[in-house]
Formats: sequence, structure tokens, C-alpha cells
Amino acid sequence: MRVGVLGGGQLGRMLALAGYPLGVRTTVLDPAADPCAAQVCDHVRGEFEADYASLYRLAQASDVVTYEFENVPVETARWLAERVPVLPPPRALEVSQDRLAEKTFLQGLGIPTPPFAAVESRADFDAGLTTIGLPAVLKTRRFGYDGKGQAVLSTPADADAAWDRLGGRPLILEGFVPFDRELSLIAVRGRSGEVVTYPLIENRHIDGILHRSLAPADRLGEELTERATEYASRILAELDYVGVLTVEWFQDGPRLLANEMAPRVHNSGHWTLDAAVTSQFENHLRAVLGLPLGRAAATGFAAMYNLIGKLPPLAGTLADPDARVHHYGKAARPGRKVGHVTLAMPTRDEFEARLPGWGAAYARG
Ligand code: AMP
Repeated sequence: MRVGVLGGGQLGRMLALAGYPLGVRTTVLDPAADPCAAQVCDHVRGEFEADYASLYRLAQASDVVTYEFENVPVETARWLAERVPVLPPPRALEVSQDRLAEKTFLQGLGIPTPPFAAVESRADFDAGLTTIGLPAVLKTRRFGYDGKGQAVLSTPADADAAWDRLGGRPLILEGFVPFDRELSLIAVRGRSGEVVTYPLIENRHIDGILHRSLAPADRLGEELTERATEYASRILAELDYVGVLTVEWFQDGPRLLANEMAPRVHNSGHWTLDAAVTSQFENHLRAVLGLPLGRAAATGFAAMYNLIGKLPPLAGTLADPDARVHHYGKAARPGRKVGHVTLAMPTRDEFEARLPGWGAAYARG
């Protein structure tokens, strides 16, 4: 079985590695000469847009094509889909790569989101500030990730600076949610319509970049999990989705508000490599290949810390016998995700006893 992946970063690399035990052969398409996934699988060097010779080579090398990032041009996914199955379906890309289309889609399914308004002009922006109020967040509709392309507005005096920085592009204005915490749900739908969901994950961001995930999140209660699962199942059904879908949530008391969705494996699911029965990567491959899904239950209590900018010495990280280290084979660069560490314990008590020490060891900022 052969899987093609649009994008050759760490997610492509971890998908390829998850394919090895199943005998799945992976080919990534990426414009870089040496993307980190290419260290562990086949690589077609090519552009994501209008490079039909390279896309054709990928299609020829694949029984199914998937993606590791959501900014793949939709036209590319549709062109490939005429030649080879492309999963998740290209419409999932279309919806999730535009924040306005995404929030409108979620709202249409009855899934709560922060209040939002489309902003094309300064007049729209001023009108949006009046209806939504402050504090608010102005975001670019497209190509925003890890907190890039965003401005938080606390007072009316912040409006001019936010507009100077972001104005001129299609934007969305959102009400700033005074959330208690951020959660994510990773759901997987197979080709037969079978769905499994991992336990809810609690995420902490620093400077807009994921710093730490805890899984399963504590203080959940059945109701919150049920609600998140039910909302995700609406998205999966509406899109006739196949593969891993990640939905990020703001929890505000008993309320869950959807922030965004990613039609792919997700950073907040990396703990599943070391502390779940089946990893998100393996389940994504199983789903797109039409295989039965694996159990998504946690085997313990896990904390995942991103290694950002540069890697700490390996021997130092491994000095903790409970640390499971993943280096991505990427060059160090400020702000770049170059690896992660997962620490897991079998019981909540043991986990909570160790968490402060891990937090200090992997502290940032
Ligand atoms: P995003 O790229 O939209 O996921 O935003 C990055 C981070 O900014 C989120 O993980 C939140 O911590 C914060 N953020 C984004 N939108 C909002 C909002 N409407 N209210 C409060 N915080 C937000």
C-alpha cells in the first residue's frame, strides 16, 4: 500500500514512520531539497501549485493522497482527485484554510464559535468593532497559523495600529473569548463511516505557538466530552470526511466554542505516539487506506512539550527515563518546531506528582 503526502515536514515524517510497521510506503511532495520527511521516505521535489509533472509523479506513486498541512491549494487537491483518491476530501481543505469560511461552516452546523464579522475595508472593521465590542482579535482570513497574522485589540486606541499592520487583506474580526483553557479533540473517520475519538486534550500556547498538551485533560466531566464529540461528528458527517480531523476549542465554563479545525494530524495529538493504543498517525493511515481503525484510548496520562528553536542535548532529555523524545531532523531556527518530548505515567496521581518538575524542565519564555 502506498500513501502520498502533500508536504514533507514533521507531520509527513511521523506519518511515514507510522507506516513502516504496516508495510505502507510513503512518498511526500515538497518544494524543499531536503524536507525532514525525506529522511525516512520517498520524496518528489515539486511545487504545490500548477506543477503538474510533479503532481502526476506523486499520483503515480500513490494509492491514496493525503496532506500534512491545510494550505495546499484546493485546485491541486481537486486535480489529484481526478487521478487518485484524495482524503480527507478537498472540501475539508477549502473550509479550513479560510477562517471566515470555517466559522460560517461551523455556525451553519449549529456549533458555537466566538462572535465574528467579515472585514474587507476599514468601514467593515469599524462596524465590526461596534457590533462585536472589545476586547477583540483581528486576524487574516488565510495563511494564519501559530498566532501569525493576528492583532489583539484591548482599547479603541489599538484599532489604527492593528489596521496599519493587517489592513488591505481579507480579514475576520472575532470577539476575544475569556476562556478558562484551550482544548482540542482529535477524531478519526474511516472509509466505512466508523468513527473513533481520542480523549480531549488541554493545550497551552506561548506567543501563539503550542507549548504543552496534557492528555487526557483533567476536570472534564462526561458532558464536555460528549458535546465535543457530538459537534465533531456533525463536521465529519457533513464533509463525508475520511482521516484525522482536529477541532480546537475554547472552554468558557460549561461552554465550548470552536476556534478552528484542521483536516490533518495535529501537534496536540503527538502524545498518542507514546500514550495511546493507536497513534493519530497510524489511525490517519488506516482511515485513508480503508483499513479498520485502531482503538483511540489513552494508555496513561501524558504531557507533551514542543522543542522550539533548538534541541536540548539528547543525553540531558533522556536522563529522565520516562521521557520519550522525538527529533524531527530539522535545522535549528528561532520559533521553529524541531522536536517534542512526551512524558507519561500510568496513574493520575503519579502524573500530577511529576508534572511540576517536567514543567520546570521544559519551561519557555
Ligand atoms: P489561532 O491561530 O486562531 O488558533 O490563534 C492562536 C491563539 O490565539 C489561540 O490558540 C488562542 O490562544 C488565541 N486566540 C485566537 N483567537 C482568539 C479569540 N477569539 N479569543 C481569545 N483568544 C484567541
